[in-house]
Parts: sequence; structure tokens; C-alpha cells
Amino acid sequence: MPAPQCFSCHAARAALRRPRSGQALCGPCFCTAFEAEVLHTVLAGRLLPPGAVVAVGASGGKDSTVLAHVLRELAPQLGVSLRLVAVDEGIGGYRDAALAAVRRQAARWDLPLTVVAYADLFGGWTMDAVARSTAGTGRSRACCTFCGVLRRRALEEGARLVGATHIVTGHNADDMAETVLMNFLRGDAGRLARGGGLGSRGEGGALPRCRPLQLASQKEVVLYAHFRRLDYFSEECVYAPEAFRGHARDLLKLLEAARPSAALDLVHSAERLALAPAARPPPPGACSRCGALASRSLCQACALLDGLQRGQPRLAIGKGRGGRDKEGPPGPLPPPPSDPESAPGPAAGECGAACKERCE
Ligand code: SF4
Repeated sequence: MPAPQCFSCHAARAALRRPRSGQALCGPCFCTAFEAEVLHTVLAGRLLPPGAVVAVGASGGKDSTVLAHVLRELAPQLGVSLRLVAVDEGIGGYRDAALAAVRRQAARWDLPLTVVAYADLFGGWTMDAVARSTAGTGRSRACCTFCGVLRRRALEEGARLVGATHIVTGHNADDMAETVLMNFLRGDAGRLARGGGLGSRGEGGALPRCRPLQLASQKEVVLYAHFRRLDYFSEECVYAPEAFRGHARDLLKLLEAARPSAALDLVHSAERLALAPAARPPPPGACSRCGALASRSLCQACALLDGLQRGQPRLAIGKGRGGRDKEGPPGPLPPPPSDPESAPGPAAGECGAACKERCE
């Protein structure tokens, strides 16, 4: 049976059926519609004001590649300028190839690129060193939990370095729905309370962050990359496979089979969620070491680095959120262990932020 005509231009043959609406569109009309929807998300949510200098968290993966490409198309209408900021976590055999993809994109699109490295920002610690230190196997299940915290900090530092006023990341609707499910499954009211909306306005001196692709499905992100012939890096990070997020992803697939709008419905549910006063987390304060936003005496990044220093790495994602704890004063940060054999024992952490390029 021949493909139907494009619903929009009525000239070309349709090349796809939009997963949610079922609309049959040709490739160019789909890309135009996708860009218009991202523009609407940004304008309706007042995410990026005219004049904003926008740091795009660029990982080389499909989501951040599509985000950078779409924002580059929309930049004249939005009146914003773009900077690519990439984070080098120090993951051997993975990140170098992903960074090569980011460099190609920066050159092709003529966008300035800055790379910030964990090793420079965090006293010599790389993710490989953290993995050795936390598990001794080099493939700890806690890696993504640690990495998600450090990555957030690194992106903030990189954005400040390039004079950005705003940060954007490539999270799509599926990513956000998975996060909502994970927070429900962990009973993490604090994260559920913060998880709604299209971003954060920049509490406590942090730069405002937003997710312009948050209402776009993963399938459509892939289709956009396909029809725009975007060059991106698609290998999975070596530390990702064990992550808890994988269970949420499987669950979401089952839900979408029965209800195609399940991902977007979950995102909207989180936006509208109202917590009872007793369940709300205490208002955040400032980290006693670095001044970043913190719900305890140390922010998560400083607590993590402090734990690595003491040989007792730990994180409290989803645990102990009743109030601020009493952590001792921080000491100087020692260099990471270079010899895997000398690394301390395994961490008790649980992976909570595995990304396949979604950890910004
Ligand atoms: Fe970091 Fe993402 Fe790799 Fe996890 S999957 S270790 S968050 S880069």
C-alpha cells in the first residue's frame, strides 16, 4: 500500500506517523513541526529571555545534539546566543569518542565549545578513579549516582566560565517520566517536589536551568536527528547498564504499550503534584564549603568528595531527607588512588541517575 500524503504540505508522501497524534507527515514537515513545538515550549514557559547567553550541556549524544541543533535554528527568533559546554568525566574508552562528536558539531555549526574536566575541577578525581575507589571493580553500581552529582556541578562551572546566564539540557519526556517513576518508587518526596516544571529558576545563586525538549518524546528526538541527518554518538556509557533507571524505563515501555501518552501524562502529573506540608523538604540553605545550594551542611558534590577523601564514599539520594545533618568540617582533598588494588571497599550506594547521555 502506498504511503499516504503528508498531512501538512499535501504534496510529498508521508515518511512517518507521529507516535502520539498519529499524524502522517513527510520528513521536512515533521522537522518544522518539531522545531515549532520546541519554540512554543520555550516561549510559553518563558525559559530563555531575549539576550540570554545559553550554555548547552553537550555530550555528543542524540538528545543534546538535537537540542543544540534546534536551538541554533531558533536562536534568531529567540534572540539568544549559544555556547556548547561539554563535561569530560574521565571515563576511559567512552568519553573521548563522545567528545570527538561534540567537537565535530561545534566546528560544523560554528558554535564556541568549552570542555571542563572532572580531573581539573575535583582535585584530580575522574569517574574511573571514583569507580575504582567505590567498588574496586571499575564498574560500580553507584557510579551514576556519583557522576550525576559531579556532572551537575561541572556543567554549572563550565557555564559560568563561558559567561552564560542560562543552562539548557537535553532531557526529553521519556527521561523525565523515568525520573518521576524512580522518585515515586524510592518514595523521594523532596525530588518529586522539585521535579515538576520545565526547569529551575536558579535558586541560591545557581544559574537558571531548563529542558526545552521535556515535552518531546524520545522517538521524535530520534526521528528529528534522522531527518536532519545529525551526527551523534550513540554508544552507552560503560557505567550505565546496572542503573536503577533501567527498571523505570522498562516499566514506562509497558505503560506506553497500553497508553501511548503515558510518558507525557507522567511529566504533567509531576508538574501538578502538590505535597502535603508535612511531606515538603526543608528549604535549602548554602553549602558550608562552596556556597552552592544544599539541603544539608555540605552540598552533595562536596559531601561526595569529602567521602572519597575519607575512603567512605556515600550519597543520600532518596534517604535521610528529614533535615540537615551534622557533618564534620571538611578537610583538604587528597589525590585519588591511582592503583586499583589499593582502593577502599565497595560503596553502599544505589545508582539513581544512569543517563545514556541524560545525566546533565
Ligand atoms: Fe556518568 Fe552518565 Fe556514565 Fe552514569 S551513564 S557514569 S551519569 S556519564
